[in-house]
Amino acid sequence: MKRWKYCANAGFFGARRDRFNQYQPDRTLEEKIDLVSQVKGISGIELKYPGDLDDSMMAKNLLDQYELQLSVVNVNTKAVSHFRYGSLTARSEETRRTAVQLLKEGMDIAAEMGVGLVSNCPVMDGYDYPFQVDYAQAWDNFIVGCREVTAHRPDVTLMLEFQPHDPNAKILLNNVGKVLYVCAEVGAQNIGANLDVGHSLAAGEAPAESAALLSRNGLLKYVHSNDNTGDGGDWDMISGSVHFWHWVEFIFTLIREGYQGWIGADLAPRHFGPVAAYQTNIMMIDRMTNLVERVGIDQIQTLLGQDGNTPGIYEKLTEDFT
Ligand SMILES: [Zn+2]
Repeated sequence: MKRWKYCANAGFFGARRDRFNQYQPDRTLEEKIDLVSQVKGISGIELKYPGDLDDSMMAKNLLDQYELQLSVVNVNTKAVSHFRYGSLTARSEETRRTAVQLLKEGMDIAAEMGVGLVSNCPVMDGYDYPFQVDYAQAWDNFIVGCREVTAHRPDVTLMLEFQPHDPNAKILLNNVGKVLYVCAEVGAQNIGANLDVGHSLAAGEAPAESAALLSRNGLLKYVHSNDNTGDGGDWDMISGSVHFWHWVEFIFTLIREGYQGWIGADLAPRHFGPVAAYQTNIMMIDRMTNLVERVGIDQIQTLLGQDGNTPGIYEKLTEDFT
Protein backbone atom coordinates (compact mmCIF):
# COMPACT_ATOMS: atom_id res chain seq x y z
CA MET A 1 0.00 0.00 0.00
CA LYS A 2 1.06 3.55 -0.67
CA ARG A 3 2.48 4.94 2.60
CA TRP A 4 1.93 8.63 2.94
CA LYS A 5 4.23 10.87 4.96
CA TYR A 6 1.84 12.19 7.61
CA CYS A 7 2.40 15.25 9.73
CA ALA A 8 0.33 17.32 12.13
CA ASN A 9 -0.21 21.04 12.55
CA ALA A 10 0.82 21.78 16.14
CA GLY A 11 -1.62 24.70 16.26
CA PHE A 12 -4.53 22.28 16.54
CA PHE A 13 -3.03 20.62 19.63
CA GLY A 14 -3.06 23.80 21.70
CA ALA A 15 -5.87 26.11 22.76
CA ARG A 16 -8.68 26.34 20.20
CA ARG A 17 -11.14 29.18 20.39
CA ASP A 18 -14.22 30.14 18.42
CA ARG A 19 -16.55 33.08 19.02
CA PHE A 20 -18.16 31.36 21.99
CA ASN A 21 -15.79 28.94 23.66
CA GLN A 22 -12.31 27.68 24.20
CA TYR A 23 -12.10 23.92 23.58
CA GLN A 24 -8.67 22.92 24.82
CA PRO A 25 -6.30 24.33 27.41
CA ASP A 26 -3.33 26.45 26.47
CA ARG A 27 -0.41 24.06 26.06
CA THR A 28 3.33 24.56 26.01
CA LEU A 29 5.26 23.61 22.90
CA GLU A 30 6.49 20.46 24.62
CA GLU A 31 2.95 19.47 25.59
CA LYS A 32 1.80 19.93 21.99
CA ILE A 33 4.74 17.95 20.61
CA ASP A 34 4.12 15.20 23.18
CA LEU A 35 0.48 14.92 22.07
CA VAL A 36 1.44 14.84 18.37
CA SER A 37 3.91 12.05 19.09
CA GLN A 38 1.04 9.96 20.47
CA VAL A 39 -0.63 9.78 17.04
CA LYS A 40 0.45 6.56 15.35
CA GLY A 41 1.75 7.03 11.82
CA ILE A 42 2.75 10.68 12.22
CA SER A 43 6.41 11.44 11.61
CA GLY A 44 6.31 15.19 11.05
CA ILE A 45 5.05 18.35 12.67
CA GLU A 46 4.25 21.80 11.37
CA LEU A 47 5.30 24.64 13.67
CA LYS A 48 4.51 28.33 13.58
CA TYR A 49 6.72 31.35 13.36
CA PRO A 50 6.34 33.69 15.18
CA GLY A 51 5.37 31.47 18.10
CA ASP A 52 6.54 27.87 18.31
CA LEU A 53 9.87 28.63 16.62
CA ASP A 54 10.86 31.81 18.45
CA ASP A 55 13.48 29.70 20.22
CA SER A 56 14.40 27.44 17.32
CA MET A 57 17.14 25.58 19.22
CA MET A 58 14.72 24.60 21.95
CA ALA A 59 12.19 23.48 19.32
CA LYS A 60 14.87 21.45 17.55
CA ASN A 61 15.86 19.70 20.78
CA LEU A 62 12.24 18.85 21.53
CA LEU A 63 11.70 17.47 18.02
CA ASP A 64 14.82 15.31 18.38
CA GLN A 65 13.66 14.11 21.78
CA TYR A 66 10.23 13.10 20.46
CA GLU A 67 11.62 11.81 17.13
CA LEU A 68 9.54 14.11 14.99
CA GLN A 69 10.67 15.90 11.86
CA LEU A 70 9.80 19.53 11.18
CA SER A 71 7.68 19.40 8.00
CA VAL A 72 7.28 23.11 7.33
CA VAL A 73 7.55 26.51 8.98
CA ASN A 74 4.09 28.04 8.96
CA VAL A 75 4.61 31.81 8.92
CA ASN A 76 1.77 33.51 10.73
CA THR A 77 0.80 36.89 9.30
CA LYS A 78 -2.57 36.98 11.04
CA ALA A 79 -1.76 39.02 14.14
CA VAL A 80 -4.24 41.87 14.26
CA SER A 81 -1.66 44.08 15.99
CA HIS A 82 0.21 44.34 12.66
CA PHE A 83 -2.15 43.09 9.99
CA ARG A 84 -5.64 44.41 10.67
CA TYR A 85 -5.65 45.99 7.19
CA GLY A 86 -3.80 43.22 5.38
CA SER A 87 -0.28 41.82 5.32
CA LEU A 88 1.50 41.68 1.95
CA THR A 89 -1.41 43.55 0.33
CA ALA A 90 -1.65 46.32 2.94
CA ARG A 91 -1.68 50.00 1.93
CA SER A 92 0.86 50.76 4.62
CA GLU A 93 4.42 50.22 3.49
CA GLU A 94 5.50 49.63 7.08
CA THR A 95 2.94 46.81 7.40
CA ARG A 96 4.06 45.22 4.15
CA ARG A 97 7.68 45.41 5.31
CA THR A 98 6.73 43.66 8.56
CA ALA A 99 5.07 40.83 6.60
CA VAL A 100 8.03 40.47 4.22
CA GLN A 101 10.43 40.48 7.16
CA LEU A 102 8.51 37.74 8.99
CA LEU A 103 8.43 35.57 5.87
CA LYS A 104 12.17 36.05 5.33
CA GLU A 105 12.88 35.19 8.96
CA GLY A 106 10.67 32.11 8.61
CA MET A 107 12.72 31.04 5.58
CA ASP A 108 15.95 31.49 7.52
CA ILE A 109 14.65 29.37 10.39
CA ALA A 110 13.46 26.70 7.93
CA ALA A 111 16.90 26.55 6.32
CA GLU A 112 18.62 26.47 9.72
CA MET A 113 16.43 23.49 10.67
CA GLY A 114 17.02 21.69 7.39
CA VAL A 115 13.56 22.24 5.92
CA GLY A 116 12.97 23.66 2.47
CA LEU A 117 9.41 24.90 2.96
CA VAL A 118 7.55 27.82 4.50
CA SER A 119 3.79 28.17 4.26
CA ASN A 120 1.63 31.26 4.44
CA CYS A 121 -2.15 31.55 4.42
CA PRO A 122 -2.85 35.25 3.84
CA VAL A 123 -6.26 35.41 5.49
CA MET A 124 -5.91 39.03 6.65
CA ASP A 125 -5.62 40.09 3.00
CA GLY A 126 -9.24 40.45 2.12
CA TYR A 127 -12.37 42.47 2.71
CA ASP A 128 -15.95 42.52 3.94
CA TYR A 129 -17.30 45.51 2.02
CA PRO A 130 -17.31 46.86 -1.52
CA PHE A 131 -14.94 49.87 -1.67
CA GLN A 132 -12.91 48.55 1.28
CA VAL A 133 -9.92 47.49 -0.84
CA ASP A 134 -8.26 48.86 -3.97
CA TYR A 135 -8.00 45.47 -5.67
CA ALA A 136 -5.47 46.42 -8.33
CA GLN A 137 -3.15 48.00 -5.77
CA ALA A 138 -3.59 45.14 -3.31
CA TRP A 139 -2.74 42.48 -5.91
CA ASP A 140 0.25 44.47 -7.13
CA ASN A 141 1.49 44.69 -3.56
CA PHE A 142 1.00 40.96 -3.08
CA ILE A 143 2.98 40.01 -6.18
CA VAL A 144 5.81 42.44 -5.37
CA GLY A 145 5.95 41.11 -1.81
CA CYS A 146 6.09 37.48 -2.97
CA ARG A 147 8.86 38.38 -5.42
CA GLU A 148 10.93 39.94 -2.65
CA VAL A 149 10.36 37.00 -0.31
CA THR A 150 11.23 34.33 -2.88
CA ALA A 151 14.35 36.27 -3.90
CA HIS A 152 15.56 36.19 -0.28
CA ARG A 153 16.87 32.65 -0.60
CA PRO A 154 16.37 30.10 -3.37
CA ASP A 155 16.83 27.07 -1.10
CA VAL A 156 13.48 27.59 0.63
CA THR A 157 10.13 27.50 -1.18
CA LEU A 158 7.33 29.89 -0.27
CA MET A 159 4.04 27.98 -0.33
CA LEU A 160 0.81 29.92 -0.55
CA GLU A 161 -2.33 28.44 0.98
CA PHE A 162 -5.56 29.80 -0.44
CA GLN A 163 -8.69 30.10 1.67
CA PRO A 164 -12.03 31.63 0.65
CA HIS A 165 -13.33 33.13 3.93
CA ASP A 166 -12.54 33.75 7.60
CA PRO A 167 -11.82 36.09 9.23
CA ASN A 168 -12.56 38.29 6.21
CA ALA A 169 -15.84 37.66 4.39
CA LYS A 170 -13.75 37.50 1.21
CA ILE A 171 -10.08 36.65 1.12
CA LEU A 172 -8.19 37.83 -1.96
CA LEU A 173 -6.26 34.55 -2.42
CA ASN A 174 -9.43 32.47 -2.41
CA ASN A 175 -9.07 29.76 -5.06
CA VAL A 176 -6.60 27.63 -6.97
CA GLY A 177 -6.76 29.85 -10.06
CA LYS A 178 -5.42 32.83 -8.13
CA VAL A 179 -2.56 30.74 -6.73
CA LEU A 180 -1.66 29.72 -10.28
CA TYR A 181 -1.87 33.38 -11.31
CA VAL A 182 0.39 34.57 -8.48
CA CYS A 183 2.97 31.84 -9.10
CA ALA A 184 3.06 32.73 -12.82
CA GLU A 185 3.37 36.46 -12.08
CA VAL A 186 6.08 36.00 -9.46
CA GLY A 187 7.95 33.73 -11.83
CA ALA A 188 10.29 32.24 -9.23
CA GLN A 189 11.41 28.63 -8.97
CA ASN A 190 10.80 28.61 -5.23
CA ILE A 191 7.09 29.38 -5.06
CA GLY A 192 4.26 26.89 -4.90
CA ALA A 193 1.10 25.83 -3.10
CA ASN A 194 0.02 24.27 0.14
CA LEU A 195 -3.31 22.80 -0.98
CA ASP A 196 -5.80 22.65 1.88
CA VAL A 197 -8.51 20.23 0.74
CA GLY A 198 -11.16 21.85 2.94
CA HIS A 199 -10.36 25.30 1.55
CA SER A 200 -10.67 23.91 -1.96
CA LEU A 201 -14.08 22.40 -1.14
CA ALA A 202 -15.17 25.66 0.52
CA ALA A 203 -14.19 27.42 -2.71
CA GLY A 204 -16.51 25.12 -4.68
CA GLU A 205 -13.68 23.20 -6.31
CA ALA A 206 -13.09 19.51 -6.86
CA PRO A 207 -9.81 19.13 -4.92
CA ALA A 208 -8.62 16.55 -7.45
CA GLU A 209 -8.85 19.15 -10.20
CA SER A 210 -6.95 21.69 -8.08
CA ALA A 211 -4.27 19.10 -7.31
CA ALA A 212 -3.97 18.17 -10.99
CA LEU A 213 -3.64 21.82 -12.07
CA LEU A 214 -1.02 22.60 -9.43
CA SER A 215 0.86 19.38 -10.02
CA ARG A 216 1.01 19.86 -13.79
CA ASN A 217 2.67 23.21 -13.15
CA GLY A 218 5.13 21.81 -10.60
CA LEU A 219 3.45 23.79 -7.84
CA LEU A 220 1.92 21.14 -5.56
CA LYS A 221 4.33 21.15 -2.63
CA TYR A 222 2.22 20.25 0.41
CA VAL A 223 -1.28 19.14 1.42
CA HIS A 224 -3.49 20.00 4.37
CA SER A 225 -6.08 17.26 4.69
CA ASN A 226 -9.58 17.75 6.13
CA ASP A 227 -13.20 18.02 5.03
CA ASN A 228 -16.21 20.26 5.59
CA THR A 229 -19.88 20.66 4.76
CA GLY A 230 -19.14 22.19 1.37
CA ASP A 231 -21.21 25.34 1.88
CA GLY A 232 -18.29 27.69 2.45
CA GLY A 233 -17.51 26.94 6.10
CA ASP A 234 -13.97 25.88 6.97
CA TRP A 235 -14.93 23.30 9.61
CA ASP A 236 -11.71 21.26 9.56
CA MET A 237 -13.51 17.92 9.76
CA ILE A 238 -12.07 14.44 9.27
CA SER A 239 -11.05 13.70 5.68
CA GLY A 240 -13.67 11.80 3.70
CA SER A 241 -16.35 12.18 6.37
CA VAL A 242 -18.49 14.33 4.03
CA HIS A 243 -16.88 14.43 0.57
CA PHE A 244 -15.95 10.77 0.43
CA TRP A 245 -15.84 10.43 -3.37
CA HIS A 246 -14.13 13.78 -3.86
CA TRP A 247 -11.52 12.50 -1.43
CA VAL A 248 -11.12 9.18 -3.26
CA GLU A 249 -10.70 11.10 -6.52
CA PHE A 250 -8.17 13.39 -4.81
CA ILE A 251 -6.10 10.43 -3.57
CA PHE A 252 -6.20 8.83 -7.03
CA THR A 253 -4.91 12.12 -8.44
CA LEU A 254 -2.10 12.46 -5.89
CA ILE A 255 -0.88 8.94 -6.65
CA ARG A 256 -1.20 9.35 -10.41
CA GLU A 257 0.68 12.66 -10.32
CA GLY A 258 3.44 11.06 -8.22
CA TYR A 259 2.97 13.32 -5.21
CA GLN A 260 5.74 12.57 -2.69
CA GLY A 261 5.22 15.38 -0.20
CA TRP A 262 3.71 15.54 3.24
CA ILE A 263 0.06 14.98 4.03
CA GLY A 264 -0.54 17.41 6.84
CA ALA A 265 -3.89 18.14 8.42
CA ASP A 266 -5.87 21.02 9.85
CA LEU A 267 -8.44 19.33 12.08
CA ALA A 268 -10.74 21.00 14.59
CA PRO A 269 -10.59 18.69 17.59
CA ARG A 270 -13.39 20.22 19.67
CA HIS A 271 -15.59 17.11 19.86
CA PHE A 272 -13.06 14.42 20.68
CA GLY A 273 -9.62 15.92 21.14
CA PRO A 274 -6.70 16.23 18.73
CA VAL A 275 -5.12 12.78 19.10
CA ALA A 276 -8.38 10.98 18.21
CA ALA A 277 -9.11 13.45 15.41
CA TYR A 278 -5.69 13.01 13.78
CA GLN A 279 -5.68 9.24 14.32
CA THR A 280 -9.08 8.85 12.64
CA ASN A 281 -8.03 11.18 9.83
CA ILE A 282 -5.03 8.95 9.06
CA MET A 283 -7.21 5.84 9.18
CA MET A 284 -9.66 7.38 6.70
CA ILE A 285 -6.94 8.45 4.26
CA ASP A 286 -5.21 5.05 4.49
CA ARG A 287 -8.48 3.21 3.86
CA MET A 288 -9.48 5.46 0.97
CA THR A 289 -5.99 4.87 -0.44
CA ASN A 290 -6.56 1.12 -0.07
CA LEU A 291 -9.76 1.45 -2.07
CA VAL A 292 -7.98 3.30 -4.88
CA GLU A 293 -5.16 0.78 -4.95
CA ARG A 294 -7.44 -2.26 -4.88
CA VAL A 295 -9.13 -1.00 -8.02
CA GLY A 296 -5.79 0.10 -9.41
CA ILE A 297 -4.48 3.37 -10.79
CA ASP A 298 -4.17 1.97 -14.32
CA GLN A 299 -7.65 0.54 -14.29
CA ILE A 300 -9.18 3.82 -13.05
CA GLN A 301 -7.15 5.72 -15.62
CA THR A 302 -8.44 3.48 -18.40
CA LEU A 303 -12.05 3.87 -17.27
CA LEU A 304 -11.53 7.61 -16.95
CA GLY A 305 -10.43 7.74 -20.58
CA GLN A 306 -13.84 6.71 -21.85
CA ASP A 307 -16.63 9.16 -22.64
CA GLY A 308 -19.88 8.63 -20.78
CA ASN A 309 -18.42 5.96 -18.52
CA THR A 310 -19.43 7.33 -15.11
CA PRO A 311 -21.62 4.23 -14.44
CA GLY A 312 -18.65 1.99 -15.23
CA ILE A 313 -16.36 3.91 -12.88
CA TYR A 314 -18.74 3.65 -9.93
CA GLU A 315 -19.46 -0.01 -10.67
CA LYS A 316 -15.74 -0.69 -10.39
CA LEU A 317 -15.04 1.56 -7.43
CA THR A 318 -17.83 -0.02 -5.35
CA GLU A 319 -17.16 -3.62 -6.39
CA ASP A 320 -16.08 -4.61 -2.86
CA PHE A 321 -19.13 -3.00 -1.25
CA THR A 322 -21.47 -5.81 -2.28
ZN1 LIG B 1 -4.68 24.59 6.10
